[in-house]
Amino acid sequence: MGDVFADLVGQAEAVETLRRAAAAAARVVAGESVPAGAMTHAWIFTGPPGSGRSVAARAFAAALECERDGVGCGECHGCHTALGRTHADVRFVVPEGLSIGVGEMRALVLRAASAPSGGRWQVVVIEDADRLTEQAGNALLKAIEEPPPRTVFLLCTPSTHPDDISVTIRSRCRVVPLRQPPADAVAEVLVRRDGIAADVAAWAAAAAQGHVGRAKRLANDNEARGRREAVLAVPRRLSSVGACFDAASALIEAAEAEAAAAVVDSDATERASLEQALGAGGTGRGAAGAMRGAAGQIKDLERRQKSRATRSQRDALDRALVDLAGFYRDVLITKLGAPVPVVHTDTAEQSGAAAEKWTAESTLRRLEAILACRDAIEQNVKPRIAVEAMMLSLWKG
Ligand SMILES: [Zn+2]
Repeated sequence: MGDVFADLVGQAEAVETLRRAAAAAARVVAGESVPAGAMTHAWIFTGPPGSGRSVAARAFAAALECERDGVGCGECHGCHTALGRTHADVRFVVPEGLSIGVGEMRALVLRAASAPSGGRWQVVVIEDADRLTEQAGNALLKAIEEPPPRTVFLLCTPSTHPDDISVTIRSRCRVVPLRQPPADAVAEVLVRRDGIAADVAAWAAAAAQGHVGRAKRLANDNEARGRREAVLAVPRRLSSVGACFDAASALIEAAEAEAAAAVVDSDATERASLEQALGAGGTGRGAAGAMRGAAGQIKDLERRQKSRATRSQRDALDRALVDLAGFYRDVLITKLGAPVPVVHTDTAEQSGAAAEKWTAESTLRRLEAILACRDAIEQNVKPRIAVEAMMLSLWKG
């Protein structure tokens, strides 16, 4: 028998909690009474990027819709359609841009209040709930405060810090913390699920620092590997002020290129389907008038696509900074002789050489410069300015 929780790597405790709740939920559906708190209407999944927040939420949604007493068999129609994002009673909110707006949230809350068509649960999965606007958060809070009897909200955020989720929403939700999965657990799933060779899986899992999706990309995608290598070449390129600015440009442009590659297909497809829906290319009477009215909708789509591209660039840049931080961490643990494995085994020689040359203090300052750069970008400092400042600190130490 299959298992909807099988892809949740290294999260035994969370899986146990979710299994128990799904079993209780199935008893509610069957008309039995369950102890108070056995099933909860609002959940928050927290954990670092790649730990599987949305994987966990989707698996739980499938278990709630499972036709075999909520076990999450992975084989019945309910499990299949929930996992495949086509179940009529499971809705996913994925922010297109940098935030989830109030209009989108209100419409969703309204639809979630109706009775589940499959007779089980209405499930609303909000990925990146940290990107809710304040008003959208308030609209959601109202629904969570008085949930319809068969509606469940699943929110995914990096943490329960007030910057990520409002204190009032947090207080109404049950929290499922996910941890960064250990490299060997990630490697194991790459071998078992994706058929990746054991040695490649072990390298990719370590290099991805517990990010399951990224580990898979590194194992399978030559371009992703090439971009990572370019990032890890940065420390040895920093030999002058000019080189620092060059390295900053290269890093920003690589992030832009990666982001563009990620969205170019979906942008074109969206535009084509919108134009088709609006009757573009029609020659009949009224087609021109319809196109004039449609211009606003196309503008709106372009605006959303632009904001999605910005977010995608930031995510790509952030991944590069995490890789870079891994290098300086390797230098530090080598310097200190710490009994933990290096992240980037393929640059162990360079990090070892740097450990000979730099003091622990200057290595720590370099690491801090990267974290400061991530924070600055998070606070909306222009990425180029933040990255240039970081490169100068990495050079000077
Ligand atoms: Zn099932």
